[in-house]
Amino acid sequence: MIEKAEILEVLKKYDQQKIKIGTICSHSALQIFHGARREGFRTVGITTEDRRAIYEAFPFGKPDEYIIVDKYLDLIDQKFQNELFQNNVIIIPHGSFVEYVGPENLQKEFRIPIFGNRNALEFEGDRRKMRSWLQDSKIKVPNEYSDPSKIDRPCIVKFHGARGGKGFFVVDSEENYQNQIEKRIKNGALTEDDLRGVTIQEIIVGVRYYPHYFYSVMFEGEVKAAEGRVELLGIDRRVESNIDDIYRIPNLARSKIEPSYVVTGNMPVVLRESLLPKVLDMGRRVTESSVRLFPPGMIGPFCLETICTNDLEFITFEVSARIVAGTNLYPEGSPYSSYIFSKPMSNGRRIALEIKEGIRKNRLTDMIS
Ligand code: AMP
Repeated sequence: MIEKAEILEVLKKYDQQKIKIGTICSHSALQIFHGARREGFRTVGITTEDRRAIYEAFPFGKPDEYIIVDKYLDLIDQKFQNELFQNNVIIIPHGSFVEYVGPENLQKEFRIPIFGNRNALEFEGDRRKMRSWLQDSKIKVPNEYSDPSKIDRPCIVKFHGARGGKGFFVVDSEENYQNQIEKRIKNGALTEDDLRGVTIQEIIVGVRYYPHYFYSVMFEGEVKAAEGRVELLGIDRRVESNIDDIYRIPNLARSKIEPSYVVTGNMPVVLRESLLPKVLDMGRRVTESSVRLFPPGMIGPFCLETICTNDLEFITFEVSARIVAGTNLYPEGSPYSSYIFSKPMSNGRRIALEIKEGIRKNRLTDMIS
Protein backbone atom coordinates (compact mmCIF):
# COMPACT_ATOMS: atom_id res chain seq x y z
CA MET A 1 0.00 0.00 0.00
CA ILE A 2 1.42 3.40 -0.99
CA GLU A 3 1.19 5.77 1.96
CA LYS A 4 0.06 9.34 1.41
CA ALA A 5 3.36 10.54 2.93
CA GLU A 6 5.20 8.92 0.01
CA ILE A 7 3.06 10.76 -2.54
CA LEU A 8 3.52 14.03 -0.68
CA GLU A 9 7.28 13.54 -0.99
CA VAL A 10 6.84 13.23 -4.77
CA LEU A 11 4.58 16.27 -4.83
CA LYS A 12 7.18 18.29 -2.89
CA LYS A 13 9.58 17.83 -5.80
CA TYR A 14 7.05 19.19 -8.31
CA ASP A 15 7.42 22.71 -9.63
CA GLN A 16 4.03 24.05 -8.55
CA GLN A 17 4.03 26.69 -11.25
CA LYS A 18 4.46 24.02 -13.94
CA ILE A 19 1.89 21.48 -12.82
CA LYS A 20 0.17 19.69 -15.71
CA ILE A 21 -3.08 17.76 -15.62
CA GLY A 22 -3.05 14.31 -17.12
CA THR A 23 -5.20 11.26 -17.68
CA ILE A 24 -5.71 8.32 -20.01
CA CYS A 25 -7.41 9.30 -23.30
CA SER A 26 -10.79 7.66 -22.67
CA HIS A 27 -14.01 8.05 -20.63
CA SER A 28 -14.17 11.79 -19.76
CA ALA A 29 -10.72 12.83 -21.00
CA LEU A 30 -11.96 15.39 -23.56
CA GLN A 31 -13.88 17.15 -20.80
CA ILE A 32 -10.95 16.97 -18.36
CA PHE A 33 -8.47 18.44 -20.88
CA HIS A 34 -10.96 21.06 -22.09
CA GLY A 35 -11.71 22.15 -18.51
CA ALA A 36 -8.05 22.14 -17.44
CA ARG A 37 -7.10 24.28 -20.44
CA ARG A 38 -9.78 26.81 -19.51
CA GLU A 39 -8.22 27.14 -16.06
CA GLY A 40 -4.82 27.70 -17.67
CA PHE A 41 -3.17 24.29 -17.19
CA ARG A 42 -1.18 22.34 -19.75
CA THR A 43 -2.49 18.84 -20.25
CA VAL A 44 -0.97 15.41 -20.88
CA GLY A 45 -2.92 12.60 -22.55
CA ILE A 46 -1.78 9.02 -22.10
CA THR A 47 -2.83 7.04 -25.14
CA THR A 48 -2.10 4.19 -27.48
CA GLU A 49 -0.96 5.36 -30.93
CA ASP A 50 -4.20 4.28 -32.66
CA ARG A 51 -6.35 6.45 -30.39
CA ARG A 52 -4.38 9.63 -30.81
CA ALA A 53 -6.17 10.61 -34.03
CA ILE A 54 -9.52 10.49 -32.21
CA TYR A 55 -8.31 13.16 -29.80
CA GLU A 56 -6.72 15.21 -32.58
CA ALA A 57 -10.19 15.39 -34.13
CA PHE A 58 -11.30 17.62 -31.22
CA PRO A 59 -8.90 20.60 -31.11
CA PHE A 60 -10.40 22.14 -27.95
CA GLY A 61 -10.64 18.82 -26.10
CA LYS A 62 -7.35 17.24 -27.07
CA PRO A 63 -4.37 17.24 -24.69
CA ASP A 64 -1.41 19.56 -25.27
CA GLU A 65 1.03 16.65 -25.09
CA TYR A 66 0.83 12.89 -25.41
CA ILE A 67 2.57 10.02 -23.71
CA ILE A 68 2.24 7.03 -26.02
CA VAL A 69 2.00 3.56 -24.47
CA ASP A 70 1.54 0.12 -26.04
CA LYS A 71 -1.04 -0.73 -23.41
CA TYR A 72 -2.37 1.28 -20.50
CA LEU A 73 -0.97 -1.06 -17.89
CA ASP A 74 2.51 0.07 -19.06
CA LEU A 75 1.83 3.19 -17.01
CA ILE A 76 2.97 1.41 -13.88
CA ASP A 77 6.42 0.85 -15.48
CA GLN A 78 9.08 3.03 -13.92
CA LYS A 79 9.87 4.60 -17.30
CA PHE A 80 6.39 6.07 -17.71
CA GLN A 81 6.03 7.02 -14.06
CA ASN A 82 9.32 8.93 -14.46
CA GLU A 83 7.97 10.72 -17.52
CA LEU A 84 4.86 11.78 -15.59
CA PHE A 85 7.05 12.86 -12.67
CA GLN A 86 9.40 14.91 -14.91
CA ASN A 87 6.34 16.66 -16.32
CA ASN A 88 4.87 17.55 -12.88
CA VAL A 89 1.69 15.69 -13.76
CA ILE A 90 -1.27 15.32 -11.44
CA ILE A 91 -3.43 12.42 -12.63
CA ILE A 92 -7.23 12.60 -12.77
CA PRO A 93 -8.53 9.06 -12.21
CA HIS A 94 -11.67 8.49 -14.31
CA GLY A 95 -13.54 5.17 -14.64
CA SER A 96 -11.42 3.81 -17.48
CA PHE A 97 -8.22 4.88 -15.75
CA VAL A 98 -9.17 2.82 -12.70
CA GLU A 99 -10.24 -0.11 -14.89
CA TYR A 100 -7.15 -0.13 -17.13
CA VAL A 101 -4.54 0.40 -14.43
CA GLY A 102 -6.44 -1.66 -11.85
CA PRO A 103 -7.43 -0.52 -8.33
CA GLU A 104 -4.76 -2.75 -6.79
CA ASN A 105 -1.95 -1.33 -8.95
CA LEU A 106 -3.17 2.15 -8.09
CA GLN A 107 -2.85 1.32 -4.40
CA LYS A 108 0.47 -0.51 -4.61
CA GLU A 109 2.47 0.51 -7.69
CA PHE A 110 1.48 3.93 -8.98
CA ARG A 111 3.52 6.62 -7.23
CA ILE A 112 2.36 9.67 -9.18
CA PRO A 113 0.08 12.13 -7.34
CA ILE A 114 -3.57 11.60 -8.19
CA PHE A 115 -6.38 14.05 -7.56
CA GLY A 116 -8.71 12.86 -4.79
CA ASN A 117 -8.41 10.04 -2.30
CA ARG A 118 -7.11 6.68 -3.61
CA ASN A 119 -8.80 4.88 -0.74
CA ALA A 120 -12.20 5.96 -2.08
CA LEU A 121 -11.56 3.81 -5.16
CA GLU A 122 -11.21 0.76 -2.97
CA PHE A 123 -14.65 1.41 -1.45
CA GLU A 124 -16.33 1.97 -4.81
CA GLY A 125 -14.71 -1.13 -6.36
CA ASP A 126 -15.99 -3.53 -3.73
CA ARG A 127 -19.80 -3.86 -3.62
CA ARG A 128 -19.80 -4.95 0.03
CA LYS A 129 -17.71 -2.01 1.17
CA MET A 130 -19.79 0.32 -0.97
CA ARG A 131 -22.99 -0.92 0.63
CA SER A 132 -21.65 -0.50 4.15
CA TRP A 133 -20.62 3.04 3.21
CA LEU A 134 -24.09 3.87 1.84
CA GLN A 135 -25.68 2.34 4.94
CA ASP A 136 -23.36 4.32 7.20
CA SER A 137 -24.59 7.43 5.36
CA LYS A 138 -28.15 6.51 6.36
CA ILE A 139 -29.50 6.97 2.86
CA LYS A 140 -31.96 4.46 1.43
CA VAL A 141 -30.54 1.45 -0.42
CA PRO A 142 -32.30 -1.49 -2.14
CA ASN A 143 -32.78 -4.79 -0.26
CA GLU A 144 -30.21 -7.47 -1.03
CA TYR A 145 -30.48 -11.25 -0.70
CA SER A 146 -27.44 -13.25 0.32
CA ASP A 147 -29.50 -16.44 0.11
CA PRO A 148 -31.28 -17.04 -3.27
CA SER A 149 -34.03 -19.01 -1.46
CA LYS A 150 -35.17 -15.70 0.06
CA ILE A 151 -35.90 -14.08 -3.34
CA ASP A 152 -39.54 -12.96 -3.10
CA ARG A 153 -39.70 -10.21 -5.75
CA PRO A 154 -38.03 -9.14 -9.02
CA CYS A 155 -34.29 -8.76 -8.46
CA ILE A 156 -31.32 -7.71 -10.58
CA VAL A 157 -28.27 -9.98 -10.39
CA LYS A 158 -24.93 -8.16 -10.54
CA PHE A 159 -21.32 -9.28 -10.54
CA HIS A 160 -18.09 -7.92 -9.12
CA GLY A 161 -16.48 -4.75 -10.46
CA ALA A 162 -17.73 -1.96 -12.70
CA ARG A 163 -18.82 -3.55 -15.95
CA GLY A 164 -21.17 -0.87 -17.20
CA GLY A 165 -24.15 -3.12 -16.49
CA LYS A 166 -22.76 -5.92 -18.69
CA GLY A 167 -23.98 -9.41 -17.84
CA PHE A 168 -26.64 -8.30 -15.35
CA PHE A 169 -29.92 -10.22 -15.48
CA VAL A 170 -33.30 -10.25 -13.81
CA VAL A 171 -34.82 -13.04 -11.68
CA ASP A 172 -37.99 -13.37 -9.59
CA SER A 173 -37.54 -16.67 -7.70
CA GLU A 174 -34.84 -19.05 -6.49
CA GLU A 175 -35.69 -21.54 -9.26
CA ASN A 176 -35.43 -18.86 -11.90
CA TYR A 177 -32.10 -17.70 -10.40
CA GLN A 178 -30.58 -21.20 -10.41
CA ASN A 179 -31.74 -21.83 -14.00
CA GLN A 180 -30.28 -18.59 -15.27
CA ILE A 181 -26.95 -19.15 -13.51
CA GLU A 182 -26.74 -22.72 -14.85
CA LYS A 183 -27.49 -21.53 -18.39
CA ARG A 184 -24.78 -18.86 -18.21
CA ILE A 185 -22.16 -21.18 -16.78
CA LYS A 186 -22.92 -23.66 -19.57
CA ASN A 187 -22.54 -21.08 -22.33
CA GLY A 188 -19.39 -19.61 -20.76
CA ALA A 189 -20.91 -16.21 -19.92
CA LEU A 190 -20.16 -16.83 -16.23
CA THR A 191 -17.47 -18.66 -14.30
CA GLU A 192 -17.62 -20.18 -10.81
CA ASP A 193 -15.29 -17.35 -9.81
CA ASP A 194 -17.86 -14.72 -10.91
CA LEU A 195 -20.36 -16.30 -8.52
CA ARG A 196 -18.17 -15.39 -5.56
CA GLY A 197 -18.86 -11.71 -6.26
CA VAL A 198 -22.57 -12.01 -6.99
CA THR A 199 -25.12 -9.51 -5.66
CA ILE A 200 -28.85 -10.18 -5.79
CA GLN A 201 -30.53 -6.82 -5.44
CA GLU A 202 -34.19 -5.85 -5.35
CA ILE A 203 -35.29 -4.03 -8.52
CA ILE A 204 -36.50 -0.57 -7.64
CA VAL A 205 -39.37 0.69 -9.73
CA GLY A 206 -39.23 4.38 -10.51
CA VAL A 207 -37.19 6.86 -12.50
CA ARG A 208 -33.38 6.95 -12.57
CA TYR A 209 -31.41 10.07 -11.65
CA TYR A 210 -27.62 10.20 -11.44
CA PRO A 211 -26.65 13.45 -9.66
CA HIS A 212 -23.05 14.61 -10.08
CA TYR A 213 -21.56 16.14 -6.96
CA PHE A 214 -18.25 17.73 -6.03
CA TYR A 215 -16.84 17.72 -2.53
CA SER A 216 -14.61 20.76 -2.26
CA VAL A 217 -12.15 21.34 0.56
CA MET A 218 -11.16 24.73 -0.89
CA PHE A 219 -14.48 26.55 -1.06
CA GLU A 220 -16.86 27.29 1.81
CA GLY A 221 -20.63 27.66 1.83
CA GLU A 222 -23.74 25.55 1.51
CA VAL A 223 -24.04 22.60 1.42
CA LYS A 224 -21.61 22.24 4.34
CA ALA A 225 -19.99 18.83 4.74
CA ALA A 226 -17.04 18.01 6.99
CA GLU A 227 -14.26 20.50 6.15
CA GLY A 228 -15.78 21.91 2.99
CA ARG A 229 -18.90 22.02 0.84
CA VAL A 230 -20.78 19.74 -1.51
CA GLU A 231 -21.86 21.16 -4.87
CA LEU A 232 -24.46 19.71 -7.19
CA LEU A 233 -22.93 20.19 -10.64
CA GLY A 234 -25.41 18.33 -12.85
CA ILE A 235 -27.66 15.31 -13.27
CA ASP A 236 -27.87 12.73 -16.03
CA ARG A 237 -29.47 9.41 -16.68
CA ARG A 238 -27.87 6.61 -18.60
CA VAL A 239 -29.16 5.22 -21.83
CA GLU A 240 -28.93 1.45 -21.56
CA SER A 241 -29.31 -1.27 -24.15
CA ASN A 242 -31.70 -2.89 -24.55
CA ILE A 243 -33.86 -1.98 -21.56
CA ASP A 244 -34.38 1.69 -22.45
CA ASP A 245 -35.83 1.11 -25.91
CA ILE A 246 -37.37 -2.30 -25.42
CA TYR A 247 -40.86 -0.78 -25.28
CA ARG A 248 -40.55 -0.16 -29.04
CA ILE A 249 -40.75 -3.89 -29.73
CA PRO A 250 -44.37 -5.07 -29.97
CA ASN A 251 -45.66 -6.99 -26.91
CA LEU A 252 -45.76 -10.35 -28.60
CA ALA A 253 -42.05 -10.37 -29.43
CA ARG A 254 -40.95 -8.46 -26.34
CA SER A 255 -41.67 -11.30 -23.92
CA LYS A 256 -39.05 -13.42 -25.73
CA ILE A 257 -36.30 -10.83 -25.36
CA GLU A 258 -34.08 -10.90 -22.31
CA PRO A 259 -33.64 -7.40 -20.88
CA SER A 260 -30.08 -6.09 -20.54
CA TYR A 261 -28.59 -3.02 -18.87
CA VAL A 262 -25.48 -2.20 -20.88
CA VAL A 263 -24.59 1.50 -20.67
CA THR A 264 -24.34 3.07 -24.14
CA GLY A 265 -24.65 6.80 -23.42
CA ASN A 266 -26.19 9.49 -21.22
CA MET A 267 -29.05 11.99 -21.31
CA PRO A 268 -29.47 15.26 -19.41
CA VAL A 269 -32.23 15.59 -16.80
CA VAL A 270 -33.35 18.15 -14.26
CA LEU A 271 -35.35 17.45 -11.12
CA ARG A 272 -38.51 19.00 -9.75
CA GLU A 273 -37.03 21.84 -7.73
CA SER A 274 -38.82 20.62 -4.59
CA LEU A 275 -36.72 17.42 -4.73
CA LEU A 276 -33.42 19.29 -4.52
CA PRO A 277 -33.27 19.23 -0.67
CA LYS A 278 -33.30 15.43 -0.72
CA VAL A 279 -30.63 15.21 -3.40
CA LEU A 280 -28.37 17.72 -1.66
CA ASP A 281 -28.84 15.95 1.65
CA MET A 282 -27.84 12.60 0.12
CA GLY A 283 -24.64 14.15 -1.24
CA ARG A 284 -23.85 15.64 2.18
CA ARG A 285 -24.46 12.38 4.03
CA VAL A 286 -22.36 10.25 1.70
CA THR A 287 -19.53 12.78 1.93
CA GLU A 288 -19.61 12.96 5.73
CA SER A 289 -19.63 9.21 5.95
CA SER A 290 -16.65 9.01 3.55
CA VAL A 291 -14.70 11.33 5.85
CA ARG A 292 -15.45 8.98 8.77
CA LEU A 293 -14.65 5.78 6.87
CA PHE A 294 -11.60 6.82 4.83
CA PRO A 295 -10.34 10.24 5.89
CA PRO A 296 -10.02 12.86 4.43
CA GLY A 297 -13.00 11.46 2.49
CA MET A 298 -14.11 11.41 -1.10
CA ILE A 299 -12.50 14.63 -2.29
CA GLY A 300 -13.54 15.93 -5.70
CA PRO A 301 -16.24 14.63 -8.05
CA PHE A 302 -18.59 11.76 -7.25
CA CYS A 303 -21.96 10.47 -8.38
CA LEU A 304 -24.88 8.61 -6.81
CA GLU A 305 -26.95 6.24 -8.93
CA THR A 306 -30.49 6.61 -7.68
CA ILE A 307 -34.05 5.70 -8.50
CA CYS A 308 -36.85 8.06 -7.50
CA THR A 309 -40.02 6.15 -6.63
CA ASN A 310 -43.59 7.42 -6.95
CA ASP A 311 -43.46 8.23 -3.21
CA LEU A 312 -40.70 10.66 -4.21
CA GLU A 313 -38.12 8.71 -2.25
CA PHE A 314 -34.62 8.28 -3.67
CA ILE A 315 -33.11 4.80 -3.40
CA THR A 316 -29.35 4.73 -4.09
CA PHE A 317 -27.94 1.58 -5.62
CA GLU A 318 -24.40 2.68 -6.38
CA VAL A 319 -21.79 5.39 -5.75
CA SER A 320 -18.92 6.36 -8.07
CA ALA A 321 -16.14 8.03 -6.11
CA ARG A 322 -14.63 9.88 -9.11
CA ILE A 323 -15.67 11.74 -12.23
CA VAL A 324 -18.42 9.88 -14.11
CA ALA A 325 -18.98 9.83 -17.87
CA GLY A 326 -22.46 11.36 -17.44
CA THR A 327 -20.72 14.68 -16.74
CA ASN A 328 -19.60 14.72 -20.41
CA LEU A 329 -23.01 16.22 -21.15
CA TYR A 330 -22.01 19.54 -19.66
CA PRO A 331 -18.70 20.89 -21.04
CA GLU A 332 -20.23 24.39 -20.86
CA GLY A 333 -21.85 23.88 -17.47
CA SER A 334 -25.24 22.53 -16.48
CA PRO A 335 -28.60 23.86 -15.26
CA TYR A 336 -27.16 23.48 -11.72
CA SER A 337 -23.55 24.62 -12.10
CA SER A 338 -24.86 27.87 -13.66
CA TYR A 339 -26.31 28.81 -10.27
CA ILE A 340 -23.05 28.14 -8.41
CA PHE A 341 -20.45 29.64 -10.78
CA SER A 342 -20.54 32.74 -12.96
CA LYS A 343 -18.50 30.98 -15.65
CA PRO A 344 -19.27 27.78 -17.58
CA MET A 345 -18.23 25.03 -15.16
CA SER A 346 -17.87 21.43 -16.28
CA ASN A 347 -16.69 18.74 -13.85
CA GLY A 348 -13.37 18.70 -15.67
CA ARG A 349 -12.96 22.43 -15.21
CA ARG A 350 -14.12 22.16 -11.60
CA ILE A 351 -11.30 19.71 -10.84
CA ALA A 352 -8.79 22.11 -12.41
CA LEU A 353 -10.24 25.03 -10.45
CA GLU A 354 -9.82 23.09 -7.19
CA ILE A 355 -6.20 22.27 -8.07
CA LYS A 356 -5.56 25.90 -9.01
CA GLU A 357 -7.00 27.04 -5.70
CA GLY A 358 -4.91 24.40 -3.90
CA ILE A 359 -1.76 25.79 -5.54
CA ARG A 360 -2.74 29.36 -4.72
CA LYS A 361 -3.40 28.58 -1.05
CA ASN A 362 -0.46 26.19 -0.83
CA ARG A 363 -2.89 23.41 0.12
CA LEU A 364 -2.46 20.94 -2.73
CA THR A 365 -1.58 18.31 -0.14
CA ASP A 366 -5.22 18.35 1.05
CA MET A 367 -6.58 17.05 -2.27
CA ILE A 368 -3.84 14.70 -3.50
CA SER A 369 -3.12 11.10 -2.60
P1 AMP B 1 -24.82 -0.51 -12.09
O1 AMP B 1 -23.70 -1.22 -12.78
O2 AMP B 1 -25.01 -0.94 -10.66
O3 AMP B 1 -24.68 0.96 -12.25
O4 AMP B 1 -26.17 -0.90 -12.83
C1 AMP B 1 -26.36 -0.78 -14.23
C2 AMP B 1 -27.79 -0.43 -14.51
O5 AMP B 1 -28.68 -1.46 -14.01
C3 AMP B 1 -28.28 0.84 -13.82
O6 AMP B 1 -27.92 2.01 -14.51
C4 AMP B 1 -29.78 0.62 -13.77
O7 AMP B 1 -30.42 0.90 -14.98
C5 AMP B 1 -29.88 -0.86 -13.53
N1 AMP B 1 -30.01 -1.14 -12.09
C6 AMP B 1 -29.00 -1.44 -11.24
N2 AMP B 1 -29.47 -1.68 -10.01
C7 AMP B 1 -30.81 -1.53 -10.06
C8 AMP B 1 -31.87 -1.67 -9.10
N3 AMP B 1 -31.64 -2.04 -7.86
N4 AMP B 1 -33.14 -1.47 -9.53
C9 AMP B 1 -33.39 -1.13 -10.83
N5 AMP B 1 -32.45 -0.99 -11.77
C10 AMP B 1 -31.16 -1.19 -11.40
